[in-house]
Amino acid sequence: MTLGVEHFHESTPIVLVIDDCADVHRLLTARLCNEVMELVCETSAEVGLERAHQLEPTLILLDLDMPGIDGFEVLRRLKEEQSTSEIPVIVLSGLQSPNDKVTAFDLGAVDYITKPFDLMELRVRLRSALKMRRLIQMLAQRAQIDGLTGLWNRAHFDDRWTEETKRAARSSSPLSLAIFDLDNFKQVNDTYGHPAGDAVLQGVARLIQKIARQADIACRYGGEEFAVIMPDTTPEQALNLCERIRAALDETDWPGKPNRHITISAGVAGSEGPTTIGRDEWIVQADQNLYRSKSEGRNRASMTKVNGAGPRLAEAS
Ligand code: GH3
Ligand code: MG
Ligand code: MG
Repeated sequence: MTLGVEHFHESTPIVLVIDDCADVHRLLTARLCNEVMELVCETSAEVGLERAHQLEPTLILLDLDMPGIDGFEVLRRLKEEQSTSEIPVIVLSGLQSPNDKVTAFDLGAVDYITKPFDLMELRVRLRSALKMRRLIQMLAQRAQIDGLTGLWNRAHFDDRWTEETKRAARSSSPLSLAIFDLDNFKQVNDTYGHPAGDAVLQGVARLIQKIARQADIACRYGGEEFAVIMPDTTPEQALNLCERIRAALDETDWPGKPNRHITISAGVAGSEGPTTIGRDEWIVQADQNLYRSKSEGRNRASMTKVNGAGPRLAEAS
């Protein structure tokens, strides 16, 4: 189960070197071989830019004086593109004038090392830039994690839902969304107290995380509401997953006297492939299904397909 800060996967940093001088590549490859990083070297600015988009490296070491597109232009293009704009760039250049340095920093470089460079110095500057990047990523990620449950929070949901609806539209792949709401949760708080209510929210989050698959994005959507984004999942498969979550919660024994019985209702809206529905309308449909589950007695899941077919209902057995 991945909860809380464990969302942050630490993999070996990839450092992309864009420099037209092959000697620099050889030198760096030989002298940085003991550092925990994977070095990828490109001699052309054009290919380097392509590699940056394709690899999304952790850091880029960039030469300025290159034939064709120069390093300043590479830097400008990297910062313009959303997928590469956050990658820290250290300039590694023979250009020594203050003007060049100022221009590079203005364009967004994090550091500037002049050639010929001292390898010890390069190494510590690289380490420090990598450490900074890691901390920034951790902070950004923490800002998207719900403090009580460790699931992704609403801000992350909003970003991911936009991304996933776009991705599904591009690739015509299935996509489903489930929204869950605990049944009569106000009563749970009123009867057992708010801290007990919090413990239930944590338990339900763990259960959702356990039953959802690795690729699913489980979020705390609001107070006692959860949302699960299910990429590459048909509405039927999504309904099935909700049904399993619903049934598992229905069967859970909660400690305390008198014994608590907690149930959840769900609404699913999913597409099997190409669809023209907008991201907001999609949420409205999932919500409508949730309210149908509530009005038809709670402790159940309802689903509609957003690409045309009529409503279907799965009820608690
Ligand atoms: P329904 O079945 O119609 O959803 O009924 P409900 O009682 O769950 O719905 P209602 O919207 O009336 O109440 C939601 C309750 O959830 C009220 C609120 O105090 C509680 N709640 C929301 N966030 C938290 C939280 O972080 N901790 C606790 N303990 N309770 C919360
Ligand atoms: Mg609610
Ligand atoms: Mg509720």
